[in-house]
Amino acid sequence: MNETICGLPPPTNATPLAYAPGSRERDSIRVELDRALAASVEIPVIIGGKEVYTGRMKPVLCPHDRTKIIAHFHEARPEDVRDAIEAASRAKAEWEAVDWRERAAIFRRAASLICGERRFELNAATMLGQSKSVYQAEIDAVCESADFFRHYGGFMKHIFEEQPASLPDEWNRLEYRALEGFIYAISPFNFTAIGANLAAAPAVMGNTVIWKPATAAVLSNYLLMRIYREAGLPGGVINFLPGQGSVTSGGLLPHRDFAGLHFTGSNQVFDSLQRDIAAGLGNYRSYPRVVGETGGKDFALVHPSADPEVVVAQAIRGAFEYQGQKCSALSRIYIPASMKASVLDRLVEETRTIRTGDVRDFGAFMNAVIDGAAYESIMGYIERAKASASCRILAGGKGDSSVGWFIEPTIILTEDPRAESMSSEIFGPVLTVHVYDDSRAEEIFDLIDSTSPYALTGAFFARDRKAIELAQARLRNAAGNFYINDKPTGAIVGRQPFGGARRSGSNDKSGASLNLLRWTSPRAVKENFAPLREWRYPYMRPETD
Ligand code: NAD
Repeated sequence: MNETICGLPPPTNATPLAYAPGSRERDSIRVELDRALAASVEIPVIIGGKEVYTGRMKPVLCPHDRTKIIAHFHEARPEDVRDAIEAASRAKAEWEAVDWRERAAIFRRAASLICGERRFELNAATMLGQSKSVYQAEIDAVCESADFFRHYGGFMKHIFEEQPASLPDEWNRLEYRALEGFIYAISPFNFTAIGANLAAAPAVMGNTVIWKPATAAVLSNYLLMRIYREAGLPGGVINFLPGQGSVTSGGLLPHRDFAGLHFTGSNQVFDSLQRDIAAGLGNYRSYPRVVGETGGKDFALVHPSADPEVVVAQAIRGAFEYQGQKCSALSRIYIPASMKASVLDRLVEETRTIRTGDVRDFGAFMNAVIDGAAYESIMGYIERAKASASCRILAGGKGDSSVGWFIEPTIILTEDPRAESMSSEIFGPVLTVHVYDDSRAEEIFDLIDSTSPYALTGAFFARDRKAIELAQARLRNAAGNFYINDKPTGAIVGRQPFGGARRSGSNDKSGASLNLLRWTSPRAVKENFAPLREWRYPYMRPETD
Protein backbone atom coordinates (compact mmCIF):
# COMPACT_ATOMS: atom_id res chain seq x y z
CA MET A 1 0.00 0.00 0.00
CA ASN A 2 2.86 2.37 0.71
CA GLU A 3 4.69 1.42 -2.46
CA THR A 4 4.40 4.82 -3.98
CA ILE A 5 6.42 7.98 -4.11
CA CYS A 6 3.41 10.21 -4.47
CA GLY A 7 3.46 13.34 -2.34
CA LEU A 8 0.61 15.54 -1.21
CA PRO A 9 -0.68 18.23 -3.55
CA PRO A 10 1.42 21.41 -3.24
CA PRO A 11 0.17 23.87 -0.63
CA THR A 12 -1.43 27.17 -1.50
CA ASN A 13 -2.18 30.02 0.87
CA ALA A 14 -5.88 30.61 1.60
CA THR A 15 -7.41 33.77 0.16
CA PRO A 16 -9.21 35.89 2.75
CA LEU A 17 -12.78 36.81 1.98
CA ALA A 18 -13.41 40.57 1.91
CA TYR A 19 -16.78 40.76 3.74
CA ALA A 20 -17.65 43.90 1.72
CA PRO A 21 -21.24 45.20 1.80
CA GLY A 22 -23.54 43.04 -0.32
CA SER A 23 -21.24 40.01 -0.25
CA ARG A 24 -22.53 36.55 0.58
CA GLU A 25 -19.89 36.07 3.22
CA ARG A 26 -21.08 39.18 5.03
CA ASP A 27 -24.59 37.76 5.27
CA SER A 28 -23.24 34.38 6.40
CA ILE A 29 -21.07 35.78 9.18
CA ARG A 30 -23.92 37.91 10.49
CA VAL A 31 -26.15 34.85 10.73
CA GLU A 32 -23.37 32.94 12.49
CA LEU A 33 -22.66 35.78 14.95
CA ASP A 34 -26.32 35.89 15.95
CA ARG A 35 -26.40 32.13 16.32
CA ALA A 36 -23.24 32.07 18.44
CA LEU A 37 -24.50 34.85 20.70
CA ALA A 38 -27.80 33.04 21.28
CA ALA A 39 -26.12 29.68 21.98
CA SER A 40 -24.22 28.99 25.15
CA VAL A 41 -21.60 26.38 24.46
CA GLU A 42 -20.35 24.12 27.23
CA ILE A 43 -16.69 23.36 26.63
CA PRO A 44 -15.29 20.16 28.11
CA VAL A 45 -11.78 18.98 28.78
CA ILE A 46 -10.92 16.44 26.03
CA ILE A 47 -8.72 13.49 26.94
CA GLY A 48 -8.11 10.51 24.67
CA GLY A 49 -10.91 11.71 22.43
CA LYS A 50 -13.41 11.68 25.33
CA GLU A 51 -15.17 14.74 26.70
CA VAL A 52 -14.72 15.26 30.44
CA TYR A 53 -17.07 17.58 32.31
CA THR A 54 -15.17 18.44 35.47
CA GLY A 55 -17.83 20.68 36.98
CA ARG A 56 -15.36 23.51 37.62
CA MET A 57 -17.00 25.90 35.20
CA LYS A 58 -15.79 29.32 34.15
CA PRO A 59 -17.58 31.78 31.86
CA VAL A 60 -16.22 33.08 28.53
CA LEU A 61 -17.16 36.74 27.95
CA CYS A 62 -17.09 39.03 24.94
CA PRO A 63 -14.35 41.59 25.70
CA HIS A 64 -16.34 44.28 23.85
CA ASP A 65 -19.54 43.54 25.80
CA ARG A 66 -18.91 42.03 29.18
CA THR A 67 -22.56 41.22 29.80
CA LYS A 68 -22.48 38.64 27.00
CA ILE A 69 -21.42 35.17 28.05
CA ILE A 70 -20.81 33.05 24.95
CA ALA A 71 -19.63 29.85 26.62
CA HIS A 72 -18.63 28.12 29.81
CA PHE A 73 -15.63 25.88 29.97
CA HIS A 74 -14.73 23.11 32.38
CA GLU A 75 -11.34 23.58 34.00
CA ALA A 76 -8.91 20.68 34.04
CA ARG A 77 -8.08 19.22 37.47
CA PRO A 78 -4.83 17.55 38.55
CA GLU A 79 -6.40 14.11 37.89
CA ASP A 80 -7.27 15.19 34.33
CA VAL A 81 -3.63 16.15 33.78
CA ARG A 82 -2.60 12.65 34.88
CA ASP A 83 -5.22 11.07 32.60
CA ALA A 84 -4.02 13.20 29.69
CA ILE A 85 -0.46 11.95 30.12
CA GLU A 86 -1.73 8.38 30.03
CA ALA A 87 -3.94 9.05 27.01
CA ALA A 88 -1.06 10.70 25.12
CA SER A 89 1.18 7.78 25.94
CA ARG A 90 -1.45 5.19 24.87
CA ALA A 91 -2.08 6.92 21.53
CA LYS A 92 1.61 7.34 20.71
CA ALA A 93 2.71 4.03 19.18
CA GLU A 94 -0.17 3.78 16.76
CA TRP A 95 0.01 7.44 15.76
CA GLU A 96 3.72 7.56 15.06
CA ALA A 97 3.38 4.43 12.92
CA VAL A 98 0.90 6.18 10.60
CA ASP A 99 2.53 7.11 7.27
CA TRP A 100 3.57 10.78 7.38
CA ARG A 101 1.51 11.59 4.31
CA GLU A 102 -1.59 10.16 5.97
CA ARG A 103 -0.92 12.27 9.05
CA ALA A 104 -0.49 15.37 6.87
CA ALA A 105 -3.67 14.44 4.98
CA ILE A 106 -5.71 14.65 8.20
CA PHE A 107 -4.59 18.25 8.61
CA ARG A 108 -5.27 18.94 4.91
CA ARG A 109 -8.82 17.78 5.56
CA ALA A 110 -9.00 20.06 8.61
CA ALA A 111 -7.87 22.98 6.41
CA SER A 112 -10.62 22.23 3.92
CA LEU A 113 -13.21 22.16 6.72
CA ILE A 114 -11.91 25.48 8.06
CA CYS A 115 -12.08 27.12 4.62
CA GLY A 116 -15.40 25.43 3.87
CA GLU A 117 -18.28 24.42 6.08
CA ARG A 118 -16.71 25.48 9.41
CA ARG A 119 -15.41 28.83 8.19
CA PHE A 120 -18.04 31.16 9.63
CA GLU A 121 -18.41 29.24 12.88
CA LEU A 122 -14.66 29.46 13.60
CA ASN A 123 -14.54 33.06 12.47
CA ALA A 124 -17.50 34.10 14.63
CA ALA A 125 -16.04 32.37 17.70
CA THR A 126 -12.76 34.25 17.19
CA MET A 127 -14.57 37.56 16.66
CA LEU A 128 -16.75 37.20 19.75
CA GLY A 129 -14.35 35.53 22.16
CA GLN A 130 -11.15 37.36 21.22
CA SER A 131 -12.78 40.64 20.07
CA LYS A 132 -11.46 40.62 16.52
CA SER A 133 -12.90 42.47 13.55
CA VAL A 134 -14.30 40.23 10.85
CA TYR A 135 -11.24 40.66 8.66
CA GLN A 136 -8.72 40.16 11.47
CA ALA A 137 -10.53 36.96 12.44
CA GLU A 138 -10.64 35.82 8.81
CA ILE A 139 -6.88 36.22 8.24
CA ASP A 140 -6.13 34.53 11.55
CA ALA A 141 -8.58 31.77 12.40
CA VAL A 142 -9.42 30.81 8.83
CA CYS A 143 -6.51 31.65 6.55
CA GLU A 144 -3.51 31.22 8.82
CA SER A 145 -4.80 28.03 10.45
CA ALA A 146 -5.52 26.52 7.02
CA ASP A 147 -2.13 27.69 5.73
CA PHE A 148 -0.30 25.93 8.55
CA PHE A 149 -2.21 22.71 7.93
CA ARG A 150 -1.74 22.81 4.16
CA HIS A 151 1.98 23.45 4.42
CA TYR A 152 2.85 20.68 6.86
CA GLY A 153 3.16 18.02 4.15
CA GLY A 154 5.65 20.10 2.16
CA PHE A 155 7.66 21.03 5.27
CA MET A 156 7.86 17.38 6.32
CA LYS A 157 8.93 16.27 2.85
CA HIS A 158 11.67 18.91 2.89
CA ILE A 159 12.95 17.59 6.23
CA PHE A 160 12.69 13.91 5.35
CA GLU A 161 14.51 14.43 2.06
CA GLU A 162 17.63 15.45 3.97
CA GLN A 163 19.57 12.20 3.63
CA PRO A 164 23.25 11.38 3.98
CA ALA A 165 25.51 10.19 1.16
CA SER A 166 26.35 6.47 0.74
CA LEU A 167 29.21 4.58 -0.93
CA PRO A 168 28.30 1.69 -3.30
CA ASP A 169 28.63 -0.95 -0.58
CA GLU A 170 26.70 0.84 2.13
CA TRP A 171 23.31 2.34 2.68
CA ASN A 172 23.15 5.35 4.99
CA ARG A 173 19.86 6.87 5.90
CA LEU A 174 18.22 9.19 8.38
CA GLU A 175 14.98 8.09 9.94
CA TYR A 176 12.89 10.81 11.49
CA ARG A 177 11.36 9.59 14.73
CA ALA A 178 8.84 11.27 17.02
CA LEU A 179 10.28 12.37 20.37
CA GLU A 180 9.99 9.90 23.24
CA GLY A 181 7.27 11.19 25.57
CA PHE A 182 4.59 13.87 25.17
CA ILE A 183 4.73 17.47 23.95
CA TYR A 184 3.19 20.24 26.04
CA ALA A 185 1.65 23.02 23.91
CA ILE A 186 0.65 26.32 25.56
CA SER A 187 -0.99 28.97 23.42
CA PRO A 188 -1.76 32.69 23.83
CA PHE A 189 -5.12 34.42 23.43
CA ASN A 190 -4.30 36.58 20.45
CA PHE A 191 -4.27 34.18 17.47
CA THR A 192 -6.52 31.19 16.95
CA ALA A 193 -3.98 30.03 14.36
CA ILE A 194 -1.15 30.02 16.91
CA GLY A 195 -3.18 27.64 19.05
CA ALA A 196 -3.75 25.53 15.93
CA ASN A 197 -0.06 25.36 15.07
CA LEU A 198 1.36 24.93 18.58
CA ALA A 199 -0.56 21.70 19.05
CA ALA A 200 -0.69 20.46 15.46
CA ALA A 201 2.96 20.95 14.43
CA PRO A 202 4.35 18.40 16.92
CA ALA A 203 1.35 16.14 16.25
CA VAL A 204 1.85 16.00 12.50
CA MET A 205 5.44 14.90 13.15
CA GLY A 206 4.10 11.82 14.97
CA ASN A 207 4.10 13.12 18.53
CA THR A 208 1.18 13.18 20.93
CA VAL A 209 0.35 16.47 22.55
CA ILE A 210 -1.26 17.95 25.65
CA TRP A 211 -2.60 21.38 24.80
CA LYS A 212 -3.40 24.12 27.29
CA PRO A 213 -5.27 26.89 25.43
CA ALA A 214 -5.57 30.48 26.67
CA THR A 215 -8.79 31.11 28.55
CA ALA A 216 -9.84 34.02 26.34
CA ALA A 217 -9.43 31.90 23.20
CA VAL A 218 -11.04 28.76 24.57
CA LEU A 219 -14.16 28.85 22.37
CA SER A 220 -12.34 29.10 19.02
CA ASN A 221 -9.73 26.60 20.25
CA TYR A 222 -12.44 24.12 21.22
CA LEU A 223 -13.90 24.42 17.72
CA LEU A 224 -10.48 23.46 16.37
CA MET A 225 -10.63 20.31 18.51
CA ARG A 226 -14.01 19.46 16.97
CA ILE A 227 -12.60 20.09 13.50
CA TYR A 228 -9.67 17.74 14.22
CA ARG A 229 -12.08 15.00 15.20
CA GLU A 230 -14.18 15.59 12.10
CA ALA A 231 -10.99 15.47 10.00
CA GLY A 232 -10.14 12.03 11.40
CA LEU A 233 -7.47 12.80 14.00
CA PRO A 234 -7.44 9.83 16.40
CA GLY A 235 -8.35 10.48 20.04
CA GLY A 236 -5.38 11.02 22.34
CA VAL A 237 -3.15 12.63 19.69
CA ILE A 238 -4.11 16.14 20.87
CA ASN A 239 -5.55 16.34 24.39
CA PHE A 240 -7.24 19.58 25.38
CA LEU A 241 -6.86 20.89 28.93
CA PRO A 242 -8.34 24.37 29.41
CA GLY A 243 -7.90 25.95 32.81
CA GLN A 244 -5.11 27.15 34.99
CA GLY A 245 -1.57 26.94 33.69
CA SER A 246 -0.26 26.22 37.15
CA VAL A 247 -2.39 23.04 37.31
CA THR A 248 -1.28 21.69 33.92
CA SER A 249 2.35 22.69 34.41
CA GLY A 250 2.31 21.26 37.95
CA GLY A 251 1.49 17.82 36.54
CA LEU A 252 3.32 17.90 33.22
CA LEU A 253 6.66 19.62 33.75
CA PRO A 254 7.99 17.33 36.49
CA HIS A 255 6.96 14.20 34.54
CA ARG A 256 9.66 11.88 33.24
CA ASP A 257 8.00 11.69 29.81
CA PHE A 258 7.85 15.44 29.26
CA ALA A 259 9.66 15.65 25.90
CA GLY A 260 9.09 19.19 24.69
CA LEU A 261 7.40 22.54 25.20
CA HIS A 262 5.79 24.44 22.35
CA PHE A 263 4.95 27.81 23.82
CA THR A 264 3.86 31.25 22.65
CA GLY A 265 3.08 33.99 25.14
CA SER A 266 4.72 36.44 27.50
CA ASN A 267 8.33 36.45 28.65
CA GLN A 268 7.26 36.22 32.25
CA VAL A 269 5.49 32.90 31.72
CA PHE A 270 8.14 31.48 29.39
CA ASP A 271 10.90 32.36 31.87
CA SER A 272 9.08 30.61 34.70
CA LEU A 273 8.46 27.50 32.55
CA GLN A 274 12.13 27.39 31.55
CA ARG A 275 13.10 27.55 35.23
CA ASP A 276 10.75 24.66 36.04
CA ILE A 277 12.20 22.64 33.17
CA ALA A 278 15.75 23.37 34.31
CA ALA A 279 14.76 22.16 37.78
CA GLY A 280 13.50 18.90 36.26
CA LEU A 281 16.71 18.09 34.38
CA GLY A 282 18.03 14.76 35.49
CA ASN A 283 14.50 13.39 35.91
CA TYR A 284 13.59 13.51 32.25
CA ARG A 285 14.02 10.63 29.89
CA SER A 286 15.49 13.02 27.26
CA TYR A 287 16.57 16.63 27.20
CA PRO A 288 13.25 18.35 26.42
CA ARG A 289 12.96 20.47 23.29
CA VAL A 290 11.99 23.98 24.36
CA VAL A 291 10.47 26.20 21.70
CA GLY A 292 9.07 29.52 22.85
CA GLU A 293 8.06 32.67 21.02
CA THR A 294 7.56 35.64 23.32
CA GLY A 295 7.33 39.43 23.31
CA GLY A 296 8.30 42.20 20.93
CA LYS A 297 8.90 45.93 20.77
CA ASP A 298 8.54 46.27 17.06
CA PHE A 299 9.86 49.29 15.24
CA ALA A 300 9.59 51.27 12.02
CA LEU A 301 12.36 53.51 10.81
CA VAL A 302 11.33 56.08 8.26
CA HIS A 303 14.12 57.28 5.98
CA PRO A 304 13.89 60.79 4.48
CA SER A 305 13.45 59.16 1.04
CA ALA A 306 10.31 57.22 2.13
CA ASP A 307 6.92 57.61 0.47
CA PRO A 308 4.82 59.39 3.15
CA GLU A 309 1.51 57.93 2.05
CA VAL A 310 2.87 54.38 2.30
CA VAL A 311 4.29 55.05 5.77
CA VAL A 312 1.03 56.46 7.14
CA ALA A 313 -1.14 53.61 5.82
CA GLN A 314 1.26 50.87 6.91
CA ALA A 315 1.86 52.44 10.33
CA ILE A 316 -1.86 52.59 11.08
CA ARG A 317 -2.46 48.98 10.14
CA GLY A 318 0.74 47.81 11.81
CA ALA A 319 0.11 49.61 15.09
CA PHE A 320 -3.64 49.48 15.58
CA GLU A 321 -5.10 46.41 13.88
CA TYR A 322 -6.38 44.03 16.53
CA GLN A 323 -5.84 46.82 19.07
CA GLY A 324 -2.07 46.40 18.85
CA GLN A 325 -2.34 42.97 20.47
CA LYS A 326 -0.01 41.26 18.03
CA CYS A 327 3.47 40.33 19.09
CA SER A 328 4.55 41.90 15.78
CA ALA A 329 2.55 45.13 16.24
CA LEU A 330 4.33 48.35 15.42
CA SER A 331 4.88 50.18 18.69
CA ARG A 332 7.75 52.64 18.11
CA ILE A 333 8.39 54.72 15.01
CA TYR A 334 11.33 56.97 14.15
CA ILE A 335 10.43 59.82 11.80
CA PRO A 336 12.89 62.35 10.28
CA ALA A 337 12.23 65.99 11.19
CA SER A 338 11.86 66.83 7.48
CA MET A 339 8.77 64.57 7.33
CA LYS A 340 6.95 65.95 10.34
CA ALA A 341 4.16 67.43 8.26
CA SER A 342 3.95 64.75 5.59
CA VAL A 343 4.11 61.75 7.93
CA LEU A 344 3.57 62.62 11.58
CA ASP A 345 0.79 65.17 11.17
CA ARG A 346 -0.98 62.92 8.63
CA LEU A 347 -0.59 59.90 10.91
CA VAL A 348 -2.17 61.77 13.81
CA GLU A 349 -4.96 63.11 11.63
CA GLU A 350 -5.79 59.67 10.22
CA THR A 351 -5.58 58.00 13.64
CA ARG A 352 -8.19 60.40 14.99
CA THR A 353 -10.64 59.07 12.38
CA ILE A 354 -10.38 55.46 13.63
CA ARG A 355 -13.49 54.13 15.30
CA THR A 356 -13.55 51.37 17.93
CA GLY A 357 -16.66 49.29 18.57
CA ASP A 358 -18.41 45.96 18.86
CA VAL A 359 -17.24 43.28 16.42
CA ARG A 360 -20.70 43.30 14.82
CA ASP A 361 -20.18 46.95 13.88
CA PHE A 362 -18.32 46.49 10.58
CA GLY A 363 -17.49 50.22 10.38
CA ALA A 364 -15.21 49.85 13.42
CA PHE A 365 -11.55 49.33 12.61
CA MET A 366 -10.77 48.40 16.21
CA ASN A 367 -12.54 46.47 18.95
CA ALA A 368 -11.84 45.87 22.65
CA VAL A 369 -8.64 44.74 24.36
CA ILE A 370 -8.80 41.25 25.75
CA ASP A 371 -9.64 41.72 29.44
CA GLY A 372 -9.63 43.96 32.49
CA ALA A 373 -6.02 43.21 33.38
CA ALA A 374 -4.86 44.15 29.86
CA TYR A 375 -7.00 47.30 29.99
CA GLU A 376 -5.46 48.41 33.31
CA SER A 377 -1.94 47.62 32.17
CA ILE A 378 -2.24 49.53 28.85
CA MET A 379 -3.94 52.51 30.48
CA GLY A 380 -1.13 52.55 33.05
CA TYR A 381 1.43 53.07 30.26
CA ILE A 382 -0.69 55.86 28.78
CA GLU A 383 -1.14 57.59 32.15
CA ARG A 384 2.58 57.43 32.89
CA ALA A 385 3.32 58.95 29.48
CA LYS A 386 0.83 61.74 30.20
CA ALA A 387 2.64 62.45 33.45
CA SER A 388 6.11 62.39 31.86
CA ALA A 389 7.79 65.66 30.95
CA SER A 390 9.34 64.09 27.86
CA CYS A 391 6.09 62.75 26.38
CA ARG A 392 3.01 64.30 24.81
CA ILE A 393 -0.19 62.56 23.70
CA LEU A 394 -0.93 63.49 20.08
CA ALA A 395 -3.95 61.25 19.52
CA GLY A 396 -6.25 59.14 21.69
CA GLY A 397 -5.15 58.58 25.27
CA LYS A 398 -8.55 57.66 26.69
CA GLY A 399 -10.20 54.38 27.62
CA ASP A 400 -13.75 53.36 28.42
CA SER A 401 -14.44 50.14 30.29
CA SER A 402 -18.12 50.71 31.02
CA VAL A 403 -19.39 48.17 28.42
CA GLY A 404 -16.21 46.51 27.18
CA TRP A 405 -12.49 47.17 27.44
CA PHE A 406 -12.08 49.88 24.82
CA ILE A 407 -8.95 51.99 24.43
CA GLU A 408 -8.54 54.70 21.83
CA PRO A 409 -5.70 54.31 19.33
CA THR A 410 -3.04 56.40 21.00
CA ILE A 411 0.00 58.20 19.64
CA ILE A 412 2.64 59.44 22.06
CA LEU A 413 5.37 61.81 20.93
CA THR A 414 8.56 61.63 22.95
CA GLU A 415 11.84 63.52 22.96
CA ASP A 416 13.38 60.71 24.96
CA PRO A 417 14.09 57.80 22.60
CA ARG A 418 14.49 55.50 25.61
CA ALA A 419 11.21 56.49 27.28
CA GLU A 420 9.20 53.65 28.84
CA SER A 421 6.78 53.42 25.91
CA MET A 422 9.71 53.24 23.44
CA SER A 423 11.24 50.22 25.17
CA SER A 424 8.59 48.12 27.01
CA GLU A 425 6.09 45.82 25.34
CA ILE A 426 2.67 47.41 25.94
CA PHE A 427 0.57 44.97 23.89
CA GLY A 428 -2.14 47.51 23.17
CA PRO A 429 -3.06 50.28 20.71
CA VAL A 430 -0.21 52.62 21.62
CA LEU A 431 2.35 53.92 19.12
CA THR A 432 5.24 56.07 20.34
CA VAL A 433 6.97 58.44 17.94
CA HIS A 434 10.46 59.85 18.14
CA VAL A 435 11.38 62.56 15.64
CA TYR A 436 15.06 62.54 14.69
CA ASP A 437 17.23 65.12 13.00
CA ASP A 438 17.75 64.06 9.34
CA SER A 439 21.49 64.51 9.69
CA ARG A 440 21.52 61.82 12.45
CA ALA A 441 19.95 59.13 10.26
CA GLU A 442 22.86 56.74 10.73
CA GLU A 443 22.96 57.05 14.55
CA ILE A 444 19.36 55.89 14.68
CA PHE A 445 20.34 52.34 13.72
CA ASP A 446 22.28 51.80 16.95
CA LEU A 447 19.53 53.42 18.98
CA ILE A 448 16.88 51.11 17.53
CA ASP A 449 19.09 48.09 18.03
CA SER A 450 19.76 48.82 21.68
CA THR A 451 16.52 50.35 22.99
CA SER A 452 14.60 47.18 23.84
CA PRO A 453 15.58 43.65 24.85
CA TYR A 454 13.45 42.21 22.02
CA ALA A 455 14.22 41.43 18.39
CA LEU A 456 10.97 40.30 16.82
CA THR A 457 9.86 42.50 13.91
CA GLY A 458 10.94 45.77 12.36
CA ALA A 459 10.23 47.81 9.25
CA PHE A 460 12.28 50.21 7.16
CA PHE A 461 10.65 52.70 4.82
CA ALA A 462 12.79 54.23 2.06
CA ARG A 463 13.04 54.67 -1.69
CA ASP A 464 16.81 55.17 -1.64
CA ARG A 465 18.33 51.75 -2.51
CA LYS A 466 21.62 52.45 -0.76
CA ALA A 467 19.72 53.30 2.42
CA ILE A 468 17.78 50.02 2.14
CA GLU A 469 21.03 48.09 1.84
CA LEU A 470 22.54 49.89 4.80
CA ALA A 471 19.49 49.39 7.02
CA GLN A 472 19.48 45.64 6.33
CA ALA A 473 23.10 45.42 7.42
CA ARG A 474 22.93 47.71 10.45
CA LEU A 475 19.67 46.23 11.78
CA ARG A 476 20.67 42.64 11.07
CA ASN A 477 20.10 41.42 14.63
CA ALA A 478 17.34 43.86 15.62
CA ALA A 479 14.50 41.74 14.18
CA GLY A 480 13.81 38.14 13.19
CA ASN A 481 11.30 39.44 10.64
CA PHE A 482 12.45 42.53 8.79
CA TYR A 483 10.16 44.35 6.36
CA ILE A 484 11.09 46.85 3.69
CA ASN A 485 8.33 49.30 2.74
CA ASP A 486 5.78 47.15 4.53
CA LYS A 487 4.21 46.99 7.98
CA PRO A 488 5.90 44.67 10.48
CA THR A 489 2.77 42.52 10.99
CA GLY A 490 0.99 39.93 8.85
CA ALA A 491 3.58 37.17 8.32
CA ILE A 492 2.20 34.42 6.09
CA VAL A 493 2.92 30.71 6.44
CA GLY A 494 5.41 29.51 3.84
CA ARG A 495 6.20 33.07 2.77
CA GLN A 496 7.53 34.89 5.84
CA PRO A 497 8.62 32.28 8.43
CA PHE A 498 8.03 33.94 11.79
CA GLY A 499 9.97 34.46 15.02
CA GLY A 500 12.63 36.56 16.68
CA ALA A 501 15.72 36.13 18.79
CA ARG A 502 17.04 37.89 21.93
CA ARG A 503 14.14 38.15 24.43
CA SER A 504 11.61 37.48 21.64
CA GLY A 505 12.12 33.75 21.86
CA SER A 506 13.94 30.74 20.52
CA ASN A 507 13.35 31.86 16.89
CA ASP A 508 12.27 28.44 15.69
CA LYS A 509 10.34 30.03 12.86
CA SER A 510 6.73 28.95 12.75
CA GLY A 511 5.44 28.68 9.20
CA ALA A 512 8.57 26.88 7.99
CA SER A 513 10.12 23.42 8.14
CA LEU A 514 12.54 24.84 10.75
CA ASN A 515 9.81 24.59 13.36
CA LEU A 516 8.84 21.00 12.51
CA LEU A 517 12.50 20.05 12.73
CA ARG A 518 12.28 20.60 16.50
CA TRP A 519 9.68 17.86 16.84
CA THR A 520 11.71 15.00 15.48
CA SER A 521 14.62 12.97 16.76
CA PRO A 522 16.54 11.59 13.78
CA ARG A 523 18.18 8.19 13.82
CA ALA A 524 21.11 7.55 11.47
CA VAL A 525 21.13 4.01 10.13
CA LYS A 526 24.10 2.50 8.29
CA GLU A 527 23.80 -0.84 6.54
CA ASN A 528 26.96 -2.47 5.21
CA PHE A 529 26.47 -4.55 2.04
CA ALA A 530 30.08 -5.83 2.04
CA PRO A 531 31.25 -6.14 5.63
CA LEU A 532 34.95 -6.94 6.28
CA ARG A 533 35.93 -10.20 7.93
CA GLU A 534 39.40 -9.14 8.96
CA TRP A 535 40.01 -6.97 12.03
CA ARG A 536 43.74 -6.29 11.43
CA TYR A 537 44.67 -3.16 9.48
CA PRO A 538 47.16 -3.40 6.58
CA TYR A 539 49.65 -1.14 8.40
CA MET A 540 49.99 -3.81 11.06
CA ARG A 541 51.38 -6.41 8.67
CA PRO A 542 55.00 -7.33 9.22
CA GLU A 543 57.48 -5.59 6.93
CA THR A 544 59.02 -8.02 4.45
CA ASP A 545 61.73 -5.88 2.68
P1 NAD B 1 0.56 34.87 28.59
O1 NAD B 1 1.99 34.57 28.77
O2 NAD B 1 -0.15 35.62 29.64
O3 NAD B 1 -0.23 33.50 28.39
C1 NAD B 1 0.16 32.55 27.42
C2 NAD B 1 -0.38 31.20 27.82
O4 NAD B 1 0.36 30.76 28.97
C3 NAD B 1 -1.85 31.20 28.24
O5 NAD B 1 -2.46 30.03 27.78
C4 NAD B 1 -1.76 31.20 29.75
O6 NAD B 1 -2.89 30.68 30.38
C5 NAD B 1 -0.57 30.28 29.92
N1 NAD B 1 0.07 30.24 31.24
C6 NAD B 1 0.24 31.21 32.15
N2 NAD B 1 0.92 30.71 33.22
C7 NAD B 1 1.17 29.41 32.96
C8 NAD B 1 1.83 28.35 33.65
N3 NAD B 1 2.38 28.51 34.83
N4 NAD B 1 1.89 27.14 33.05
C9 NAD B 1 1.33 26.93 31.85
N5 NAD B 1 0.71 27.88 31.16
C10 NAD B 1 0.63 29.11 31.70
O7 NAD B 1 0.41 35.60 27.15
P2 NAD B 1 -0.90 36.15 26.45
O8 NAD B 1 -1.38 37.34 27.19
O9 NAD B 1 -1.87 35.06 26.16
O10 NAD B 1 -0.28 36.59 25.05
C11 NAD B 1 0.41 37.80 24.90
C12 NAD B 1 1.89 37.60 24.87
O11 NAD B 1 2.22 36.63 23.88
C13 NAD B 1 2.63 38.86 24.45
O12 NAD B 1 3.78 39.02 25.23
C14 NAD B 1 2.99 38.60 23.00
O13 NAD B 1 4.10 39.32 22.53
C15 NAD B 1 3.24 37.13 23.03
N6 NAD B 1 3.09 36.55 21.70
C16 NAD B 1 4.23 36.25 21.02
C17 NAD B 1 4.15 35.74 19.74
C18 NAD B 1 5.40 35.40 18.96
O14 NAD B 1 5.30 34.70 17.97
N7 NAD B 1 6.55 35.88 19.38
C19 NAD B 1 2.90 35.55 19.15
C20 NAD B 1 1.76 35.86 19.89
C21 NAD B 1 1.86 36.36 21.17
